[in-house]
Amino acid sequence: MSAGPGAGGRRGGGGGSGEGGGPDSAADLICGRCGRGCRARVLDRHLWCADCVVAARGEAGRVGWMCGAVMAVLLAAWIYFVQQPSAMLLGGWIGAVLATFWLGARAGRELTYGVLRFRHRPR
Ligand SMILES: [Zn+2]
Repeated sequence: MSAGPGAGGRRGGGGGSGEGGGPDSAADLICGRCGRGCRARVLDRHLWCADCVVAARGEAGRVGWMCGAVMAVLLAAWIYFVQQPSAMLLGGWIGAVLATFWLGARAGRELTYGVLRFRHRPR
């Protein structure tokens, strides 16, 4: 699942005549995360290219789901061992656990995404 830093970086476009060395004429700015030259209009306001935004969102989503799962398991364990719910209330507790899982996943995703952005913020 984890793409390497160089994966998918194939540059299209015909007629590459230069031997490298000079800056890419199509690139106005450098992506703040992968360092690749990109046109200014494909970078977002944090100076990330589209690939990096997708990659960071995917990574943040994975971490977020793990956060939600951990929180839900902790809540379920607390309910199971401390509250010891009766069969009548069990549905409500399950709903609470599922809500915790969902909200925890969303919160964890946003938090992780924010951390990723902060770590790769433009100088
Ligand atoms: Zn990038």
